[in-house]
Amino acid sequence: MSQTTSAMTQIICAFCKGTGKDPFDLLSELAVCQVCGGRGKVEVKEPAIKCAFCKGTGVYHDTRVTCTVCNGKGMVTAPKGETTLCPECNGTGAAMDSGMPCLKCKGKGVISK
Ligand SMILES: [Zn+2]
Ligand SMILES: [Zn+2]
Ligand SMILES: [Zn+2]
Repeated sequence: MSQTTSAMTQIICAFCKGTGKDPFDLLSELAVCQVCGGRGKVEVKEPAIKCAFCKGTGVYHDTRVTCTVCNGKGMVTAPKGETTLCPECNGTGAAMDSGMPCLKCKGKGVISK
């Protein structure tokens, strides 16, 4: 790793809430969290904002799979520059009709101005 990674911020893994274990015991009780690899922490590129689609939980709504927007981290990198609430999904990150991640903001809930 080079020194140029300073724009990364370390956060608690949302998917396992920092335990490092698979929160749903899908494979076995001892399975490590697939998001953080058991470290309990993940890195997100700055500026990081809470993932709108999963509301920072890292979980894809009512399923047991990782959020496809933040990859289970619970945080995503905000769009460059000034941002504004996504008019398509009203900042929820989810498309009104399908419930899938909003195409306009890619599930982040905000877009570049
Ligand atoms: Zn984890
Ligand atoms: Zn998410
Ligand atoms: Zn949107």
